[in-house]
This record gives sequence, C-alpha cells and structure tokens, in this order.
Amino acid sequence: MKHYGLIGYPLTHSFSRNFFLEKIKNENLTDVSYSNFPIKSINEFPDLISKVKKLKGINVTSPYKEDIIKYLDDIDEEAKEIGAVNVVKINKINESLFLKGYNTDIYGFVSSIKEYLNNNIKSALILGTGGAAKAVAFGLKKLNINYTFVTGKNISNNLMLNYNDLNKEIIQNNLLIINATPLGIFPKINAKPNIPYKYISENHILYDLIYNPAETLFLKEGLKKGAIIINGLKMLHFQAEKAWEIFNS
Ligand code: NAP
Repeated sequence: MKHYGLIGYPLTHSFSRNFFLEKIKNENLTDVSYSNFPIKSINEFPDLISKVKKLKGINVTSPYKEDIIKYLDDIDEEAKEIGAVNVVKINKINESLFLKGYNTDIYGFVSSIKEYLNNNIKSALILGTGGAAKAVAFGLKKLNINYTFVTGKNISNNLMLNYNDLNKEIIQNNLLIINATPLGIFPKINAKPNIPYKYISENHILYDLIYNPAETLFLKEGLKKGAIIINGLKMLHFQAEKAWEIFNS
C-alpha cells in the first residue's frame, strides 16, 4: 500500500484530497490511499511521517509552504530559489527516510496562463508578496514577462510598489495584473485589492489565484471593463497533476 496526504491548517475547504481520491478511483489504483493531515503546528510533521507507514508523498498547503523546508533532505532548484515547497516526495534509502521538496505552483501558473498571452503582454503587476506571489514571479520570469510586486507594506522601489503608487500610467503599462493575495476568497467575498480599476481596459488580463468563488470582485471589475479574466482553478489542477507526476517518478 502507498500512502499520500496533505498537510496544512485548517484543511476544511481543501481541494487536493478530492482531486487525488478521484484520480485513484479513475485509474483503479487499489493499493493507493490519500488522507488529510490537518496539523496545528509544523512541529508535528516529524512525528507524522514516522507514524504513517509507507507514506510516499505529501502535498503542502497554507501555512506550511515555507516552514516545511527545514525538515527536507533535498530541495529542487526552483523551490529553493523562491523559498516555498508545496510537494514533498518521500523515499526510503537504507531504512532512512529521504525527503525532497518541489514547487509545482510555478508549473501550475505557467501552464494555466500560456493560452491567454499575446505579444502586447510585456509586463505585469503581482498583487501580494507571499509564497504564491513568489511562485508567480518565477513563472513570469520563465515566460519573459517583466513584473513588479505591489504591497500593502510601506515600501516602494524598483521591484516593489505600494498600492498608493498605482496610477493611470502604471495600470496602462502593465496589461497583466495578478491577484496573489487572499482578498476576495470565500467567505470574505466582498473584499478586493485596492487598485484603480477605472484604468483597466479590454487590453488587460486580470488573473486571480483564488478559485472559490470562481468570480471574485477583482475579476468582476475586470469583466466590467472588458478585460480577459482567469481564476485559479486551472493553476490548481495543473499543480496537482505535476505533483502526481513527481510522486510517481
Ligand atoms: P499569504 O502568504 O497569506 O498572503 C499573500 C500576500 O497577500 C501577503 O504576503 C500580503 O502581501 C498580501 N495580503 C495578505 N492579506 C492581505 C490583506 N488583508 N490585504 C492586502 N494584502 C494582503 O497567501 P499565499 O499563500 O501567498 O496565497 C495567496 C493566494 O493565492 C491565496 O488566496 C491562495 O488561496 C491562492 N493560491 C492559489 C493557488 C492555486 O493553485 N490557484 C496556489 C497557491 C495559492 P503584502 O503584505 O506585501 O501586501
């Protein structure tokens, strides 16, 4: 029997378990199981992996994508560069466990946005500066799209703007705007990032990493202006497919 699972806290609205259970069912894998492990502190992780026998892989979600790194024996280059891991592959070598971390959010983001890009999309604003924002930035670098982070913190420099700095020129020069904050996520669906939406045009793409609700207020504002809108569902599917590939490699 091979076991897989998800760590994070809380895990009440988690997508991963259903996704992998469906996959296990569709592929008729009778020797594979998938469980949620809602651990309240990352300190519980070593105990978990020693107790759950034949654990072959773990998906990692909020708030442990950064804290998990200290427990790993190896880390993939991309995950190391952004400092966030959402997949851990567990191998047994000479009776000892060997844990390697990966970041499949980067792959998920790049794969999900590719079909919407055109030659006008040369630079982007990334709203937020957390783990997901860093994965998006890495993805944009791969796609040769320049980016600037937008933060609520009291900072503005070449790489980072404050929401108060955003004006007509900046919005018009950045035809891709990505919400990588939790603003607008269920149940706080009435929140949205504080950007000047009046300058959004039909040439813009508004991408929200949130997938619940499918249409956040941020995306609704884009829709009103005729922009292309994308939610986080495809990214979620792509990152999970990549995780499965890593588990089975
Ligand atoms: P996070 O670390 O909790 O927050 C990201 C950043 O958002 C923070 O660093 C902060 O940046 C900003 N922020 C947080 N609360 C805010 C508020 N009340 N007002 C304004 N800004 C706020 O989250 P994360 O793990 O990076 O994830 C961000 C979002 O992406 C979440 O909604 C998550 O569900 C989603 N996500 C989706 C996928 C997918 O596959 N679709 C994958 C990963 C994450 P500043 O302090 O610099 O402003």
